Amino acid sequence: MTNVMVKVEKLKNYINGEWVESKTAQFENVYDPAKKEIIAQVPLSTKEEVDYAVEVAAKAFEKWKNVPVQKRARILFDFHQLLQKNKEELARIITVENGKNLSEALGEVGRGIENVEFAAGAPTLMMGDSLTNIATDVEITNYRYPIGVVGGITPFNFPMMVPCWMFPMAIAVGNTFVLKPSERTPLLAQKLAQLLEEAGLPKGVFNVVHGAHDVVNGLLDHPEVKAISFVGSKPVGEYVYKRGSQNLKRVQALTGAKNHSVVLNDADLELATTNVIASAFGSAGERCMACSVVTVEEGIADAFLDRLVEKSKELKIGHGLDEGVFLGPVIREENQKRTLGYIQKGIEEGATLVCDGRGNLPEEGYFVGPTIFDDVTTDMEIWKDEIFAPVLSIVRVKNLKEAVETANQSEFANGACLYTSNASAIRYFRENIDAGMLGINLGVPAPMAFFAFSGWKSSFYGTLPANGKDSVDFYTRKKVVTANYKAPSFE
Ligand code: NAD
Repeated sequence: MTNVMVKVEKLKNYINGEWVESKTAQFENVYDPAKKEIIAQVPLSTKEEVDYAVEVAAKAFEKWKNVPVQKRARILFDFHQLLQKNKEELARIITVENGKNLSEALGEVGRGIENVEFAAGAPTLMMGDSLTNIATDVEITNYRYPIGVVGGITPFNFPMMVPCWMFPMAIAVGNTFVLKPSERTPLLAQKLAQLLEEAGLPKGVFNVVHGAHDVVNGLLDHPEVKAISFVGSKPVGEYVYKRGSQNLKRVQALTGAKNHSVVLNDADLELATTNVIASAFGSAGERCMACSVVTVEEGIADAFLDRLVEKSKELKIGHGLDEGVFLGPVIREENQKRTLGYIQKGIEEGATLVCDGRGNLPEEGYFVGPTIFDDVTTDMEIWKDEIFAPVLSIVRVKNLKEAVETANQSEFANGACLYTSNASAIRYFRENIDAGMLGINLGVPAPMAFFAFSGWKSSFYGTLPANGKDSVDFYTRKKVVTANYKAPSFE
């Protein structure tokens, strides 16, 4: 057999409408995690390259901010058409670089497209407000303006949806944008840049600089970057929030999670088990809205767990492009090792392993099977830490009050779900649980683009979260004009 050397593509940055080769000597491999195969190499770009992209974006801002908002929106309509046309290809890129199955990848593309739809409403969203006669012949009007260059720093788990939480609205309201995609899933950003160019976006309005912390620091330190949108893990989000704020920028940092679902005795068992599985093991547990802990009332616990384990064992594991595959790999070997470490730790901490995801796995990828621990308590690390893998903890409780008190001990507060048929329980849950996004009888309560995506506690740093009207506020500043119209008499 001859060994054929396949040349792996070295990704380029996209700056000022040009594909530019990075001058760095440092590249990282990009893998298909279901095959452990190198599919590209991503440059860890230099500070000079980020500085150049920011300067280009700052120059482009001077023109772009004055393009009438409806014309900016029309480019987004054309971009929307192109996204629809290329849906399948976009989803395949996501599956190959991230590992999630094709149907989840298509779902992600759909979620990204919703953000573009919402941002295309910029002419209405940017309207200010006014009040006449606040004193005799005096009125006040509030106008919205863009803020300048926005830097976007995104995680590996949603290479399409998360950037789309940021740049469509940012550019629709007149800003320019520099995206630093995750170095582990950088391919989708290339396609976004191509499609934006095809949609007629002027040069310099949207730029992509690949890399890691040097590029992030470049964005955080450059005085021309006026706002930073970050999505990623808690330690990095905290760092980005502190350094960005210290440099007097607006920062929104959406960070880690440990999401709780509460199953009450009166829950629909079939619905609860199906949704918990989709939430805990979908996308290999690598979602910020993944269910990581189920807090279950004692009366239903055995029946719930039996059914959960039975169904989990039936999940098909493999390459996300293959028919019928539910569970893909985790993103890298280190994530696989870390997850196996947590499973070992859970056993040592005294939890009961009722579904072991370590056996019978395809060897060609970084797979971990669905894993479930019973008898978990809040002092265990498997309860406290964001594992970000298909590992689920079960905590048994006496009632809803105890369930809520237990969940509220978590440092994170992104999402939380309740399974019940009792209206009073729903209200109690809504009023007392610490979490920004709640689901009632559903598994992944990720709000749609026109509502805020809003974690609490250590799941979010900043004032204005992503999406919805909050994103319009985040990407604009206001000018309030108080005018005295007292004039000479016309009589
Ligand atoms: P990550 O924090 O490792 O990386 C996020 C971004 O920060 C990447 O672009 C990365 O290059 C950059 N980065 C990483 N280390 C850095 C460092 N030391 N200095 C500067 N920049 C650095 O996150 P990830 O592993 O890519 O993504 C998973 C995390 O993202 C999970 O914690 C998940 O909960 C979180 N997430 C949160 C939300 C949300 O809405 N709250 C959504 C998606 C993902």
